[in-house]
Amino acid sequence: MAERIEVLLSEEEVNARIREMGEQISKDYAGKNIHLICILKGASFFMCELAKRIDIPVSIDFMSVSSYGESTESSGEIKIKKDLEEPLEGKHVLIVEDIVDTGKTLQYLMGLMKERGAEDVKLCALLDKPDRRLVDVKADYTGFQIPDEFVVGYGLDYAQRHRNLPYIGVVKFD
Ligand code: 5GP
Repeated sequence: MAERIEVLLSEEEVNARIREMGEQISKDYAGKNIHLICILKGASFFMCELAKRIDIPVSIDFMSVSSYGESTESSGEIKIKKDLEEPLEGKHVLIVEDIVDTGKTLQYLMGLMKERGAEDVKLCALLDKPDRRLVDVKADYTGFQIPDEFVVGYGLDYAQRHRNLPYIGVVKFD
């Protein structure tokens, strides 16, 4: 089966939207320090681009949770594979995710960050697939709403491939 990638969001569109998100976040958090938590590996490209567009003091940390593995369906079970290095007490936490699908990952992470004493916790996702939502979770900042298709690029993979594409695409099998 031949595999090809169809462009859904171009590099220019994605970068322009991230710039806007950075400006909005800088305004909303004016006068505060913001603690960005990047959910590995998918959100890493997005977080770097976003952090560069935020013009208030930023600190960053990384967490890795279980995802789909080699499949395109969520197991629904969330496990911490790599934990944070910094404490969260009193911090203004912004969780940076690549995509909200069923919402289970973010729901779990929100609860966890609050339990750990963050002053407040907000969510920022580059992509949102609202049709797939199973739990009531909504990002405070969303880059793009997309249809229910499996996407790759800009950090998102299919069996660990395609993360390095500078755009968002849909994998098609001919
Ligand atoms: P949720 O817990 O919201 O169902 O799943 C979120 C995670 O599933 C994302 O962080 C991402 O790792 C993975 N995911 C969901 N949809 C897609 C998709 O279309 N493409 C890729 N590559 N990963 C996805």
